[in-house]
Amino acid sequence: MYKRFYNFGLSDEVLNALSEMGFEKPTPIQESAVPPALEGLDIIGQAQTGTGKTAAFGIPIIEKGTRGKVPYAIILAPTRELAVQVAQELNKIGKNKGILSVPIYGGQSIERQIRSLKKGVDVVVGTPGRVLDHIRRRTLNLKNIRILVLDEADEMLNMGFIDDIETILRDIPEERQTMLFSATMPKEIMRIAAKYMNNPRRVAVDAKNMVVLKIKQVFYEVREEYKIKALTRLLDVEDPSLTLVFCHTKREVDEVAGKLQQMGYYAGAIHGDFTQSHRDEMMEKFKKGDIEILVATDVAARGLDITDVSHVVNYSIPQNPDSYIHRIGRTGRAGKSGIAITFVTPREYRQLRLIERSAKTRIEKAKLPTRDEVRRAREQEILDEIDDIIKDENHSGYLDMVDELSSRYPLRDIAASALSLIFSDIESDEDEDDAFTDGLSSAKNYVRLFMTVGKRDRVRVADIVRSIASGANIPGRKIGNIALFDKFSFVEIPRDLADRVISSVDNSVLNGRKIRVQPARAKKPAAFERNLC
Ligand code: ADP
Ligand code: MG
Repeated sequence: MYKRFYNFGLSDEVLNALSEMGFEKPTPIQESAVPPALEGLDIIGQAQTGTGKTAAFGIPIIEKGTRGKVPYAIILAPTRELAVQVAQELNKIGKNKGILSVPIYGGQSIERQIRSLKKGVDVVVGTPGRVLDHIRRRTLNLKNIRILVLDEADEMLNMGFIDDIETILRDIPEERQTMLFSATMPKEIMRIAAKYMNNPRRVAVDAKNMVVLKIKQVFYEVREEYKIKALTRLLDVEDPSLTLVFCHTKREVDEVAGKLQQMGYYAGAIHGDFTQSHRDEMMEKFKKGDIEILVATDVAARGLDITDVSHVVNYSIPQNPDSYIHRIGRTGRAGKSGIAITFVTPREYRQLRLIERSAKTRIEKAKLPTRDEVRRAREQEILDEIDDIIKDENHSGYLDMVDELSSRYPLRDIAASALSLIFSDIESDEDEDDAFTDGLSSAKNYVRLFMTVGKRDRVRVADIVRSIASGANIPGRKIGNIALFDKFSFVEIPRDLADRVISSVDNSVLNGRKIRVQPARAKKPAAFERNLC
């Protein structure tokens, strides 16, 4: 059948735009959806995330449109991030035709949106709530709409947008083409399709083949309290480019991201409680690789297209099979391979089997890396780093020190001692049991220390970690939770290191202030504050 975009009979403007975007040939869903969509048929498209659904409806929309004043197409999408992303992709496809697509979502100033709508928009990409808002204010004119798309319909359903969507559907001229895209097709979606679509053509891409071909799926049995440790071991050994970690609740997202940050990983968090600008900033940082681990809830990460995610970690097991498919669809995008990791507590085996059965996939059990494997991975990493340093000549500032030492010791001893400085972190972990019997977060192994510095002294969590780690000469990752208050803070320290921390940090100076450290008195304060970034 079709193998190239030009077989679709597209205009040069669109063909050139696609080639500038690096699209060489259509993906399967594009191959089956674009031709009937160009003919004007209603379409129900089923394919999981990462298969190119946006262009599947975006190409026909742009091909059939012209630059005008009033929108001729509207796309409803579940989240602000997704609306922004779809609008961006449409603007790229429509570049040569000058067709303007604009995202409309809650959280952005409505006045600004009204101004841009007034100036003339061709394609509106919006979240249902905000679109409805504009309809009610009469700031969005839907009279000329010829094409309507429901993107990620199942997720809009999950998020409770169904009434809003039906209201919007009633406001759009019936003489229109409707396209609905969804990774799964629950009954409610089929009902909407039957009610509002006209003899729709169904196009599907076999979910099974899509998942299994490109994504390696494994699970680890991990008890709740050892998950952080399991995660960091995997991160250390697998050395992922970008990792997306899914948690079930916002609180868990905060906790996991906070822990990772304390342990020196470049981690960030997104969930619904953060402001839009914070979420945008995190996404940008993640895309650029400034943060390597993004911890998120399902909703916040919905539909995000980040090309280089090598690992998806289900820190908490997905609630249902659909969510599993969506989550792991964040990796292995656009032909790249990816790894999907799921943590399963002993009680969650049944849930895992359920997911395997409904998603028609096989998730292999894997063994967590041992301490030795972590160590070997770290050694390799350091060898590589040394390679780079020497190649880039970043070591020249230290040659004098080496010269001085070399009058007294052989070079081999000097180099090995320097390495031992780097590895002292790992060595001090040697006593840790592989079975995680003295796990990081089991509270009984920790004591809480009270420190007389707080936010008012412009002290951050990182400062406290640094002062304790260097003062007591212990690895930062051994330090547990830190709760920062205005004038004081609480720090959790492994019981066996507490004396060492007190004796070395008490009476020392931090940010120009002398600090006192002592064991905290029982009871946790009611308001446990954590300073995340
Ligand atoms: P979906 O909506 O199915 O989750 P997207 O439309 O977000 O998937 O596409 C996933 C990624 O693949 C995007 O980065 C997109 O630009 C890219 N992509 C889409 N179609 C093609 C194509 N034909 N060739 C190369 N890359 C493509
Ligand atoms: Mg999509």
